[in-house]
Amino acid sequence: MNLVLLGPPGAGKGTLAARLVEEFGFKHLSTGDILREEVAQGSELGKLAKGYMERGELVPDEVILGMVRERVDGEKEGFLFDGFPRTIAQAEGLERILPVNLVIYLDLPEEEVVRRLSARRVCKKCGANYNLLTQPPKVPGVCDRCGGELYQRPDDREEVIRNRFRVYLERSAPLIGYYERKGILVRVDASLSPEEVFARVAEVLRR
Ligand code: AMP
Repeated sequence: MNLVLLGPPGAGKGTLAARLVEEFGFKHLSTGDILREEVAQGSELGKLAKGYMERGELVPDEVILGMVRERVDGEKEGFLFDGFPRTIAQAEGLERILPVNLVIYLDLPEEEVVRRLSARRVCKKCGANYNLLTQPPKVPGVCDRCGGELYQRPDDREEVIRNRFRVYLERSAPLIGYYERKGILVRVDASLSPEEVFARVAEVLRR
């Protein structure tokens, strides 16, 4: 089956995705992670995406769909899409690539999004996520897993976070109704602990 994680920035899509990959062996496809790699490498795609990302805006649909098509590469099963699709046009494009069987909607209000993302730190080396309030690293600034340096994503500053949330409401929230009408959406309260969120989703997947 193919799974989509939907929800505002900071709802815990990346954290949940990592657990689902561990437990169920999905192939994880995060468009945000791919774009950040392209930016770090200074590729043409990275140069194009950088400005949009810094402003908290969406990278154009055709660019994103091309990127996804390339990585899916004709396979039809076992994908976990994280941060994609983010617009109705992307969802329609995805349907032409492969079928989506289940959409997990991680529901979180704006104030909680801002609170979480302002405190988020990410490992430069392995990409592990920390939160200074709820999941701090054992040694400040250092990754527990690989010893890499922790940094704050440039788009995790408050004014950019608020813009990302606005963009989410305008462009991505319509996907909730879109997938609800298809009968494949499951809503999960993302203010629960990562463990509880994972347990709920795992239960849905084992049904
Ligand atoms: P994320 O890590 O998912 O929060 O993505 C970081 C940034 O990458 C977003 O704010 C967008 O600028 C861009 N991005 C990631 N995924 C998409 C997508 N599916 N469509 C458009 N832009 C995206």
